[in-house]
Amino acid sequence: MDIKQFFKKIKSEYLVKSKEDEQQQAIETQSHWVKCPSCESLMFFKEVENINHICPKCNFHMRIGAKKRIDLICDEGSFVEFDQELHPTDPLSFVDSKSYQKRLEEALKKTGKTSSVVSGECTIDGIPVQLVVFDFAFLGGSLGSVEGEKIVRACNRAIEKRQGVIIVSASGGARMQESTYSLMQMAKTSAALRKLDQEGLPYISILTDPTFGGVSASFAFLGDIIMAEPGALIGFAGARVIKQTIGKDLPEGFQKAEFLLEHGSIDMVVERNSMKKTLHDLLDLFYKENVA
Ligand SMILES: [Zn+2]
Repeated sequence: MDIKQFFKKIKSEYLVKSKEDEQQQAIETQSHWVKCPSCESLMFFKEVENINHICPKCNFHMRIGAKKRIDLICDEGSFVEFDQELHPTDPLSFVDSKSYQKRLEEALKKTGKTSSVVSGECTIDGIPVQLVVFDFAFLGGSLGSVEGEKIVRACNRAIEKRQGVIIVSASGGARMQESTYSLMQMAKTSAALRKLDQEGLPYISILTDPTFGGVSASFAFLGDIIMAEPGALIGFAGARVIKQTIGKDLPEGFQKAEFLLEHGSIDMVVERNSMKKTLHDLLDLFYKENVA
């Protein structure tokens, strides 16, 4: 396969995925019914929302937005957001089927945000920490210059205040509309986390469905502890692309959190409902060891 065909295949896979997402969202907003992506059971949206978007039939952890994630992890009212004023520019005047500017405007309208990342400070059962949360609803949680900068600033605040950093990833990878600028964020965030490490401060990475591309190839896999939600799809390229590239069948579920745990790529699979307690216990341990 030549390089042109390779990118064409990646693009077609990406388009199919976004179409599926759009359809899924249309079902949810129009009818207030949700279909579990894993067991395909139909459930009333409110019912699923009340149980933190975990399928009561098969325990699949459905995607949630940054706000819901923050509510689940942080002590009530403790989250203070930083760097809200940062917004993406369009250094390459990038246009594919739509212009990048247009995509940014649509994402702002859809999510009310200018970035796929919400970052700030909070406490978790009383322990202060810097928290960075990706929102997949904003341009597929893609990593661009603003997202990278927010992560670096969170690390700098953590060093200044002697706190740990938690990053919750949900991302398709680097933002293609920013090209090299977004790829640079992989090195930039990795360097900031290295500084955090040199200061003896902890970094916990939480991988949620989905974590792919430049995100999994940089900060998402650099955690002192790397945890994932049950059933989360995690990898670099999608399964179809890998299969087409290497021409071999791949093991069943090889990009699922449980498979990665079994093969030593991550440290823990943690249920959404016990995430807060697990984070508190780990931070408590780290802070007693390193900070105090
Ligand atoms: Zn289900």
